[in-house]
Amino acid sequence: MPETFKAILVSRDAEKKQSVAVTDLTEAELMEGDVTVAVEATTVNYKDGLAITGKAPVIRRWPLVPGIDFAGTVISSSHADWRKGDKVILNGWGVGETHFGAYAGRARVNGDWLVPLPEGMSPHDAMAVGTAGYTAMLCVIALERHGIVPDRGPVVVTGAAGGVGSVAVSLLSSLGYHVIASTGRSAESPYLIDLGAAEVISRDELAQPAKPLAKERWAGGVDAVGSHTLANVLSMTSYGGAVAACGLAGGMDLPASVAPFILRGVSLLGIDSVMAPKPVRLEAWRRIGTDLDHKKLATLSTTIGFDGIVAAARDIVDGKIRGRVVVDMQR
Ligand code: NDP
Repeated sequence: MPETFKAILVSRDAEKKQSVAVTDLTEAELMEGDVTVAVEATTVNYKDGLAITGKAPVIRRWPLVPGIDFAGTVISSSHADWRKGDKVILNGWGVGETHFGAYAGRARVNGDWLVPLPEGMSPHDAMAVGTAGYTAMLCVIALERHGIVPDRGPVVVTGAAGGVGSVAVSLLSSLGYHVIASTGRSAESPYLIDLGAAEVISRDELAQPAKPLAKERWAGGVDAVGSHTLANVLSMTSYGGAVAACGLAGGMDLPASVAPFILRGVSLLGIDSVMAPKPVRLEAWRRIGTDLDHKKLATLSTTIGFDGIVAAARDIVDGKIRGRVVVDMQR
């Protein structure tokens, strides 16, 4: 009998009604790839929540094992870069969208999609960072490239108590920025201050339709929310500043004016983690290894077992999750 492992499988019936089940799979049922990995840790990202609840069309191949990121150990490989025993991380590349993903004991993927686990990090640490944290790092690198250094003034982080937001607050404060954290959950102020926020503001301040230009409040920002929030962040960005936009937790629209761009020279920096080229990923994970205060990973993450994935997926879409959720596959 071939060895089986547990997996979450999302299916769709003839009426396109989606259902989620826990099942047993064998390696023969995995999709094509040249590296097979024993998944040791994964996470629940906002996108995984959308996939499992069906709230947005993240899944584009049926049935599918969801889960957009994992860390684990190579079991077998015919790819030149990877050997049995190597510790690896995967983020994106359509895994958990069109290719069987992380919510299974094993994953078979294209070896080009993998990056090595940074020195000194466990699979659990890497997934406490996860795709949300790696995206936060991409945002920080984009701001730095634009010359937004700590001396330029404060930076704002929206959706601050969420996954991207928590890692962004932590990273930016470790790098010496004055971080203004925007949250809808005032009870999370002590948590955000613990992560390094210098100020915490209510998300209500950024939720109304934006004026073309408002009082300059920050040199830049990391926005995980979109919609009116991003429009307000742009209108409050000081001359020559920049905002890294990576998320849509508040909406996919952008009801803004061109005024910040043409009157203040503000830049909007688009951040995509899914198809980011390998050198960009290697740089982001290297920086996570060196710049993120690893002690803060315990503060910003909660660990659950495989059986908790579906409930956590619902909670993240409802905005109930604080920081990052790590799934320990051995639990
Ligand atoms: P989380 O759910 O952990 O965080 C999102 C946060 O946004 C919430 O915690 C909440 O923060 C805030 N929020 C939620 N709903 C609203 C709302 N209606 N209005 C205003 N704020 C709201 O998700 P992640 O951090 O994992 O992801 C954040 C966003 O980034 C998502 O849209 C996700 O799809 C996107 N993303 C994009 C990537 C890319 O490659 N571009 C990669 C990873 C994520 P608070 O309670 O503090 O207000």
